[in-house]
Amino acid sequence: MLGAMGITLWAPAGRDAAADAPAATPALPPLEGESPRGRVAPAVVDAGSDVATLGWEALRERVASCRACRLCESRTQTVFGVGHQRAHCLIVGEAPGEHEDLQGEPFVGAAGRLLDRMLSAIDLTRGEAAPEQQVFIANTLKCRPPRNRNPEPDELARCSAYLHRQIELVQPRLLLAMGRFAVQTLLDSSEPIGRLRGRVHHWRGLPVVVTYHPAYLLRNPADKARAWADLCLAAAQLSN
Ligand code: URA
Repeated sequence: MLGAMGITLWAPAGRDAAADAPAATPALPPLEGESPRGRVAPAVVDAGSDVATLGWEALRERVASCRACRLCESRTQTVFGVGHQRAHCLIVGEAPGEHEDLQGEPFVGAAGRLLDRMLSAIDLTRGEAAPEQQVFIANTLKCRPPRNRNPEPDELARCSAYLHRQIELVQPRLLLAMGRFAVQTLLDSSEPIGRLRGRVHHWRGLPVVVTYHPAYLLRNPADKARAWADLCLAAAQLSN
């Protein structure tokens, strides 16, 4: 059954930079207000209290010019998100990696290829399709953390207004939160995925299904069966 549904396609097919990133956080750039010799503290501009009122184009422009945290100093470009603007399923990942930072699209590395296969197993796609089938993919952070380090709490906090507005505009039926930073942002919980998965949570009344991040699954293939169960839960929610 699992094989027929494509699980065998999920065998690790190489690792991308994001998947290989060490869990430890390397030295950070200077904090707001700090100006160590040779470094200039980024101009910190708040994401804006009007983000919740912006339409798609204005939101896209606001994200593209964002300087609300230090990540603006090292990004090549922001990664806004892709997909159907009225998708029934909105996927929340972590942050752009090297490939995403260069291409401006989320999940284009090895983790993205696995994500595409996971979606296809439940008849969803990032390609052009009707809103029932085509997902919207967004990240908690719109800029790549240097050397793919973990997002910092202040970065997640400053970027969250953009994700919230994307969710409000799409009005999905389901949020699929992949990995602990998506979970932290949406559910304000630091519980491990293993404790949160397997049941439906809510963000502002919207159902949220929690599962492992594809980059984690590339490193821990034994958990693919659990991820498959999570996808089945998501599919069941979508068909309600
Ligand atoms: N991992 C993510 O969470 N998002 C991306 O866009 C790429 C890798």
